[in-house]
Amino acid sequence: MSDLNKLGLAEARDALRKGETTSVELTEACLKAIDAADALNAFVHKTPEIALERAKAADERIKAGDAPAMCGLPIGIKDLFCTKGVPSQAASRILEGFKPEYESTVSQQLADAGAVMLGKLNMDEFAMGSSNETSVYGNAVSPWRRGNDDAQLTPGGSSGGSAAAVAADLCLAATGTDTGGSIRQPAAFTGITGIKPTYGRCSRWGIVAFASSLDQAGPMTKNVRDAAIMLEAMCGHDPKDSTSADIPVPNFEAMLTGDIKGKKIGIPKEYRMDGMPAEIEKLWADGAEMLRDAGAEIVDISLPHTKYALPAYYVIAPAEASSNLARYDGVRYGRRAQLAQGDGITEMYEKTRAEGFGHEVQRRVMVGTYVLSAGFYDAYYNRARKVRTLIKKDFEDVFAAGVDAILTPATPSAAFGLGEMTEADPVQMYLNDVFTVTVNLAGLPGISVPAGLDKQGLPLGLQLIGRPWEEGDLLNTAYALEAAAGFVAKPGKWW
Ligand code: GLN
Repeated sequence: MSDLNKLGLAEARDALRKGETTSVELTEACLKAIDAADALNAFVHKTPEIALERAKAADERIKAGDAPAMCGLPIGIKDLFCTKGVPSQAASRILEGFKPEYESTVSQQLADAGAVMLGKLNMDEFAMGSSNETSVYGNAVSPWRRGNDDAQLTPGGSSGGSAAAVAADLCLAATGTDTGGSIRQPAAFTGITGIKPTYGRCSRWGIVAFASSLDQAGPMTKNVRDAAIMLEAMCGHDPKDSTSADIPVPNFEAMLTGDIKGKKIGIPKEYRMDGMPAEIEKLWADGAEMLRDAGAEIVDISLPHTKYALPAYYVIAPAEASSNLARYDGVRYGRRAQLAQGDGITEMYEKTRAEGFGHEVQRRVMVGTYVLSAGFYDAYYNRARKVRTLIKKDFEDVFAAGVDAILTPATPSAAFGLGEMTEADPVQMYLNDVFTVTVNLAGLPGISVPAGLDKQGLPLGLQLIGRPWEEGDLLNTAYALEAAAGFVAKPGKWW
């Protein structure tokens, strides 16, 4: 078989089971593609030895007829996941040199399911960003370009390396994390599928914390079937994470029938934003039409507190981040600043944190400490928490009225150029998350499915939001949408 790196998870799994290829061959094809794609800056720590060792072990298991769900399938892991003995820096200078003594639950579960880790993937520093431009490793670059224009585009963020790697076929799939949209937005920008499960589905243990009440891990894959396979391997109860839910994990793949007859799909009027490009409007309307043609009932709904979601998110997420990031002080792990004669512990903290954190992270820490300060706690943090409750209730009301899933655009635009937003006011960048943060605030599952191209030839995604714990049903609706949209475009190879 040729071009093995271009396969998806299900295709590769089936080929392995039939003996048409081996995990070592698949892994070598990916390693070769990775080495030829340094221009994308997607893989920031390559682990070929670990990969080949795991691939050999997987081939043995397959031969012995003992192949678990992801056996022998080569994937990339976002740098936010702690991986034992392998640099895990959250794309930050402050974690330079940090090699964890332990493995995150999710990456361990993937390894237990037989997956082969190819290396660690670029991302925004501490997962703060929407363009992968805050990374200490430099920008990840999208494999996509606008027509013949060779300007470099963002793959989205924060899981930009994961998105670029999957879209460019450097791996079969990758892990991502999503606090406000970091799986769904980069998936939409690069023409791949990404699902953020219900809060509590995946263990957060061993994933560097950004905003603990919002963070969730999820798969970034080439199609919906692959998302179902990989999500099942990633989720499940973990006693090491008190917010992980003790709820059985169904066989998500078995739920992909494509039958959505009688499902009620809500179209929330508040997501129709001023200044939204006509192409996005059209994509959204087309998506609704496709679901209707597949037998679903399309209903107009209202989620009245939507407009407060972004401001509430940008209070809550920095508040939690400022607390989570207090642990990086140069004492126990990571990088410590050079100290001058006479410097004490305060200077060590100050210098280490000033040098170790990039601008966006520092901005979030400052905003977070401000909104949590005694004088402003009620005005900002408590108010944002109340808004969050109202946003959650908006969704609960709609689901109680019989809506099964909600269809929205995934992003307000296609991918923008690297550097195009860096001079802008940071709020411009934050606006990227306008359709995705509501889902994290409410703890719901959300999936982005590639659904079309804009006039410059760039991918656009649609988001489906599901009921809590009903990822199987959500994946099935996404599967029907995927089949109807028939998105097959791939970026032209220039790297
Ligand atoms: N772009 C959002 C932020 O900067 C979301 C990031 C994420 O989901 N990790 O906070």
